[in-house]
Order: sequence, then structure tokens, then C-alpha cells
Amino acid sequence: MKSKIFFSFVVVIFTAMISNFIFKWFIVKDFDEYNLAAEELTIHWILTSLEESYGNDGWDDKMLFESIHWGLMSGFDVELLDKEGLKVMDSKAILQSLKPIMKKRMKAILNFDNPTGDYKEYVIKEKNSEDSKIGTLRIRALAKYGLPAVKEEILKKRAKYFMLISFFIAGGGSILLAFLFAAYLTNPLKRFKEASIKIAKGDFNVTVPIKSSDEIGSLAKSFNYMAEALRREDRLRKHLMTNITHELRTPLTVMKANLEAVMDGVISDPREGQKNLEEEVNKLIGLVKSIEDVTKAEEGFFRRSEYEKVNLREFLEGLLSQFDQMAINKGIDLSMSRKVNLSLLIDREKLTTVFNNLITNAIKYTEKGNISVEYGVIDHSMFYITVNDTGIGLSEEDQDLIFGRFYKGRTSKGMGVGLSIVKELVDIMKGEIAVKSEQGKCSQFQIKLPLKKHNG
Ligand code: ADP
Repeated sequence: MKSKIFFSFVVVIFTAMISNFIFKWFIVKDFDEYNLAAEELTIHWILTSLEESYGNDGWDDKMLFESIHWGLMSGFDVELLDKEGLKVMDSKAILQSLKPIMKKRMKAILNFDNPTGDYKEYVIKEKNSEDSKIGTLRIRALAKYGLPAVKEEILKKRAKYFMLISFFIAGGGSILLAFLFAAYLTNPLKRFKEASIKIAKGDFNVTVPIKSSDEIGSLAKSFNYMAEALRREDRLRKHLMTNITHELRTPLTVMKANLEAVMDGVISDPREGQKNLEEEVNKLIGLVKSIEDVTKAEEGFFRRSEYEKVNLREFLEGLLSQFDQMAINKGIDLSMSRKVNLSLLIDREKLTTVFNNLITNAIKYTEKGNISVEYGVIDHSMFYITVNDTGIGLSEEDQDLIFGRFYKGRTSKGMGVGLSIVKELVDIMKGEIAVKSEQGKCSQFQIKLPLKKHNG
């Protein structure tokens, strides 16, 4: 990944460099073409001027001198030949005839000793006639010294330097940036890789730091959620195995003892032995049922919370109505004491399991009287649901222990998993559960959950 990102950056940089190079090439080419066109224009005017110097009496020496002198000042080595090819005048002769100071100045600017390139030849025709040749102009550019030459060079050099500098600064800088950027993008992935290797080796105590709120940040959040779920599952699995082994051992030991007693003739009435065996088998069936409940609940523990908008009154009434028959059978009054409408967001699946367990226990451990449900809001930040019963109550010691997995009170009528599931689900929903009870009189289970108000 890192090398791919780096490589794509390099391709982009390389393309930018190539366009830079093409840009430079065009600048230099345009400049050369501009120079050539300017040169052609000057030659054209020299030609015209020479044509003007020719009259009926042949070449006008004064005009000729001026034309070639002008050509010389424009930076050209000029030769004028007549129609027979004999030299009429040239720039060297003009140069010789100049005053010393002028000659010196000219030599300072133009290099007469090393003229560049070959002569170009132009036919000079008589004015107003296209056919009659009067002579030939041989002309070539002289190399320049001083400012003009320097200016030309400077422009070309600047274009070259611009390219080189941009190559080193922009190119080098961009490669460095590309390297840093690729590292910046791939570093978080390195952390994910290390964390997943740890998880694969069975070490679930890993979290990746959440350093941003972008895609990597939300990936880190999901990753941590997954690691947390795995930790929880691992913990529960170990816990469950210990408890199941413990719970299985008791009925199996009792069954074995009964069977031995029957075989050894210690129990004379086989029906008594069978009755004991049946009791233990029923306990085993109950245990299997509890394991089923735990497994089902655990599916919920690991599922991501899905909150939906409900009217809490309607939601609780709906759940409560399923227990009406059970309560009637036991002669208990089941009711909801405050019926205000409260619209909020809940995790329907988890809250249903929690509430059903609390009501089931209330009915299980109440012989007479009533069970009432209350709900409401605390400090605008939490909502509560309370289940009150006039049942057998709990000892203070039991109140501290009942939320542990497989903990059964002395009066237990189950396998001791219901409240532990309730507690774990309430924890997942970031809530609290509390119990108040008076032994032999009443119990109150209250859950408090964060209030997530929906918009609108
Ligand atoms: P169980 O299957 O034993 O009911 P729970 O985890 O649901 O397991 O409850 C743990 C213990 O808490 C029970 O064994 C019981 O002693 C006690 N308990 C739970 N709810 C009540 C209640 N409403 N009134 C009295 N005791 C209760």
C-alpha cells in the first residue's frame, strides 16, 4: 500500500516535471523564432535600402555606405557584389573607414573575427523591375558581445535554471512530501495490522488509538468495538465453562450416588431412587435451558446496538400484557402505576430481554400481593424503569450477589442466570441496575438508562 501510494505520487510528480520540461522547450523555441523573425526583418530593410542606393548612374556610394553601415550596426557582416559577382563594398571596408572611437565601440559589441554561420545570399533587383538583377547581398549575423548577447543568454539560462530549480525544489520536495504522506496514510494501517496479529494469537487486550474523525478514525472505532466484543466473549466463555462444569457435577454426583445406592441395595424401594434420579434429571434439563438462554442473550451482547424511537408507555404495556395470565394464575395484581407518554430512543431487543427477566422473577418470587411497574425521567439525562413486588424479598447478602452468573438465592426457582444477563445487557446500554429489598416483604429492581431523545 505504502509503495503504491508513493509510486502514484511519483507518477504525478514525473508528469509535472515533463510538462515543465516541455514548457521550457517552448519558451526557448519561441524566443529563437522571435530572434529569427527580427533578423529577417532587418535583412529585408537592408535589401530595400541597397535597392534604393542603385540609380541610373549605378551605385550611389554615399547611400551604399549608409545602408551597409546600418547593417553593420544591426549586427550583420554584409557584402555587396555586383551582377558580375565582383565585390562592391563590404562591412569590413566600412569598419576601416569609421573614426577610431566608433570602430572601437563597434568592436566592443560585435565579434568580427568569428562570424557565426554561413552567408545567406539575396538577389538585389533594380527598383520597379522584377527581372533585372543588379547585384547580390551576402549577409550573416555577427556574434555579439556585451549586453545584447548577455540578455539573450540570460533568457535562455533563466529558462534552463527555472527548469532545474523547479526540478530540485518542486520535484525533490514533492518526493519527500510523497514519502511523508505515504507514511502518514499507512501508519495507522500498521497499527491495525499489529493489533489484528495480536488478536489472531488470542490476545484480545488490544485497542487502536482513535486519532482522527475520518474514515480511519471510524475504522479504529469499529475495530475497538470488535476487540471489546471478543474480550467479552472470551471472558464469558471461560466463565460459562467453569459454571457449567460446576452445575453439571452436582446433579451427576447425586445421580451416581443414587444409582449406586439402588445397586447396592441401600435403597430398598427402587421408586425412591427413581424419584431422586428424576429430580436430578429435571435439574439437568433446567441447566440446559439456562445455557440456551445465556447463548441467546449473548447473541444480543455482541450485536451492535440499534436504537429506535418508541413510546415507553406503549412499549412497557405491550410487554406487561404477555404476563397477565401468569399473574392471574398466581392471584397477583400486575399493573403500571404512572401512565405518561414518554417518547425516546431505546435498544428494543435488549430492553425487552431485561424487562421480561425482571417481571418473570417478580412473578416467580411473589406469592401474594401485587407487582407494579413505574417509569420516568431523572435529571433530563436518564430514564428509569422500576419493578416493585410484594414477594419474598432478598437478604442483604443475596442483594450483593444476585447479579453474578449462576448465583442462586436460597429460595431460587431457577438456574441463577436471569439477573446476570440483565446486568450485562444494562451495562452494554451504559446504564445501571439497583436492587432494594426487605426480606419476606418486598423487592424493588430499578434500571436507569441514558436518555437518548430523538430529533423531532
Ligand atoms: P434464578 O434463575 O435463580 O431466578 P436470577 O439470576 O434471575 O436466577 O436471580 C438470582 C437470584 O435472585 C434468585 O435465585 C433469587 O434468589 C433472587 N431474586 C431474583 N429476583 C427476585 C425477586 N423479585 N424477589 C426475590 N428474590 C429474587
